[in-house]
Amino acid sequence: MFLIVILLEMCSQNLQSLVMKMQGIDRSHGMGHPHGKKIDYNVNPFIVIWEVTRACQLKCVHCRADAQLTPDPRELTHEEGLHLIDEIYEMDNPMLVFTGGDCMLREDLIELAKYAINKGMRVSMVPSATDNVTKEKIRAIRDAGLSRWGFSLDGPIPEIHDAFRGTPGSFDLTLEKIQYLNELNMPFQINTVISRYNYDHLEEMAKLVGELNSVMWYLFLLVPTGRGQEKDCITPAETEKVFRWLYELSKTAPYDIKVTAAQHYRRVVLQQKMRDHLIAKGEIHYEDSITTDFASLHDGLKRAPKGVNDGNGFIFISHIGDVMPSGLLPITVGNVRETPLAKIYRESKVLQELRQPDHYKGKCGVCEYNKVCGGSRSRAYAITGDYLESEPYCLYIPLALRKKETSPIK
Ligand code: SF4
Repeated sequence: MFLIVILLEMCSQNLQSLVMKMQGIDRSHGMGHPHGKKIDYNVNPFIVIWEVTRACQLKCVHCRADAQLTPDPRELTHEEGLHLIDEIYEMDNPMLVFTGGDCMLREDLIELAKYAINKGMRVSMVPSATDNVTKEKIRAIRDAGLSRWGFSLDGPIPEIHDAFRGTPGSFDLTLEKIQYLNELNMPFQINTVISRYNYDHLEEMAKLVGELNSVMWYLFLLVPTGRGQEKDCITPAETEKVFRWLYELSKTAPYDIKVTAAQHYRRVVLQQKMRDHLIAKGEIHYEDSITTDFASLHDGLKRAPKGVNDGNGFIFISHIGDVMPSGLLPITVGNVRETPLAKIYRESKVLQELRQPDHYKGKCGVCEYNKVCGGSRSRAYAITGDYLESEPYCLYIPLALRKKETSPIK
């Protein structure tokens, strides 16, 4: 019966994307856990994002941080930063990302990166593409051992990117800096916020990401928080269409594809994989797919097989040391100046709630995909004010609800 339901569902799906060209290249670029260990997200995060500064010269229309031109005098000091790196390392050495604002505006950035890298941490950073990014700085950071660089590119042409970034000339500057990265053999990823601004241009963006030699296309589904507005979000139906397109693209693209604030992409990947297998060989059963070791699937998600979500394998530290489930879920659950990060991460009631998908409200709470998906807790909070509410931008109706609807009336 399960299988029939799934087959019926699959037959109703849009098969148009299946005929897109495929080459099937998968590259992980060494960003997984160094020991290949399974991580208990109740104890340690998979990834830590540290907003080293909130200063930034850009004026992005969606800015989560509502960044300012000058650094906040309350920013964590150099010594506090080193101590924080020690604390992060002690949590089983998760991936560490320096973000901002513009992390290049943090004067001790290279020293902080070197300190973490010398401890054996995998560090990447996401600076703004401004004149602060010189070839010399890239070389120094590369020589310090940075794992990966990230630049934002939100449109394939200057008109779209510059409008979104609120800064004329930003597109050309970004391409110039990417050329530096390529010349210096510094692996980099391109980050793109999916929004109303670029929805009609994603095909061109995908092509450009490949032409620029990026190792990853990292897509954010806009969350209406900070300066981000709901009117700029694409609709749930458009989101579904983009996810299915991305899944097909992931088979052909010469770069990895990863998403954030788009947990339901994992559900789409699983559905599409099940459909592919059923169509091709019939060698996977629906029940098995739910308990499959996702690390063994070649779907570009194997960097984080257990369904990282806000506060669940993922933690954010602000420029002043506030700890939050994510930068897009602005609920402060502690401050590293007052409480050790590990204690906050393990004992915060909010974080513990976020790690229990079966206790989410509405359809996410009963969804058979909630352990690997769970919906964006950030978007649920931004739109409903409740971080346990259902993902508002997911169209899927869980099997449990469908069964209820079809049960005989007593
Ligand atoms: S209903 Fe919630 S858990 Fe299920 S696929 Fe949608 S977002 Fe994910």
